[in-house]
Amino acid sequence: MSETIPEKIDTLIHARWLIPVQPRQTVLDHHSIAINKERIIAILPSTEARQRYQASEQQQLDQHVLIPGLINAHGHAAMTLFRGMADDKPLQSWLQHHIWPAEEQWVSEAFVRDGTEIAIAEMLRSGTTHFTDMYFFPNVVAQTAADAGIRAQVSFPIFDFPSAWGQDADDYIHKGLLVRDDFKHNPLIDVVFGPHATYTVADPAMKRIATLAAELDINIHIHLHETQQEVDEAIANSGKRPLQRLSELGLLTPRTQCVHMTAVNDDDIALLQQSGSHVVHCPDSNMKLASGFCPVQRLLDAGINVAIGTDGAASNNALNMLEETRSAALLAKVVAGDASAMPNWQALEMATLGGATALGLQHQLGSLEVGKQADIVAIDLTAIEQQPLYDIFSQLLYSHLSHAVTDSWIAGQHVLKNRQPSHLNLDELKQKARYWREKISG
Ligand SMILES: [Zn+2]
Repeated sequence: MSETIPEKIDTLIHARWLIPVQPRQTVLDHHSIAINKERIIAILPSTEARQRYQASEQQQLDQHVLIPGLINAHGHAAMTLFRGMADDKPLQSWLQHHIWPAEEQWVSEAFVRDGTEIAIAEMLRSGTTHFTDMYFFPNVVAQTAADAGIRAQVSFPIFDFPSAWGQDADDYIHKGLLVRDDFKHNPLIDVVFGPHATYTVADPAMKRIATLAAELDINIHIHLHETQQEVDEAIANSGKRPLQRLSELGLLTPRTQCVHMTAVNDDDIALLQQSGSHVVHCPDSNMKLASGFCPVQRLLDAGINVAIGTDGAASNNALNMLEETRSAALLAKVVAGDASAMPNWQALEMATLGGATALGLQHQLGSLEVGKQADIVAIDLTAIEQQPLYDIFSQLLYSHLSHAVTDSWIAGQHVLKNRQPSHLNLDELKQKARYWREKISG
């Protein structure tokens, strides 16, 4: 009898615990993940893994839990440079008197690159491996994400009015599709339509987006029903709720991601259900701007897919998906008046598989399964704040763990090592943040 020769692979990660998300509510003890190229090729007990594989890189994580990379399904990364600049204002005055004037004055390619790098460092250090962005200079956002080794859905912004990046809706669409062409061979980056909102884009441009998105099979990412006021004004102006108008224009499809959805009635839920569109819930931003509450449990009960996003750092002010998921779980209970609404395991599922499903990437991302992309986050559970350890799901959701993310892999690449992003220098980023603060505050 000859002994089996170990198979040569790229990476083997041995962990104390592993939460694959699929199957649901599962915690595996002393398991390992085998990675070759960008994919997971096996998940198996560590003793077996050591016999079966010979890996170029081995990682021993005796005190850690491995989870799928968190998917931040909505944000404006470069707005980290406006973090803390205009707090405690309601949405419309915040936008019109603070954010839009500041953007008009400061937004440039350099601003977007520096702000996006700071955002990526923060997101990697709190467990995010994929983020959706909607901001000016999406070409710069896409390149910055690709250089940092993080996945991104870059939604190019579309407005009817000019900005630093475009003139009118046709110009934004034309430029955005060119960016999409530039990145079509980059497996980390997807460039999609980002019409800002129904109150900033009129029907002709919306129809064009609907046609092009269907023809070219491209996702649509839009702010929708962020406040009751937005819905009331739309009814006063057009006689229609924004969701109804999008539906009539052909924009509600399984490729559509509706961000916020705080003002929701039964007709809205029926439209979301019939269309297969997704909802992106941003609880901290909704609370901070007093926008309203997304009825997450009602949406889930209706079979609608819900993802979680942080929104931009100017309205949150953190890009921390573990904290955001905690807020989502707590808020769901308050809104439903039911402490059993959104249990801890389901909140983690929304932050991973829910995000992947909204992107149309549920067969590639969102859970730790053989054949999927190796997007993995390691969290250290030794700190006093996590003791005693009865239930790993409970620690993940309800304790403060963001500082405990130590390592992450994206497409099998080790992009966060012992809290240091592999392709970004934290000291340089702090200098850049100081530079912009001095410039912006005069
Ligand atoms: Zn937003």
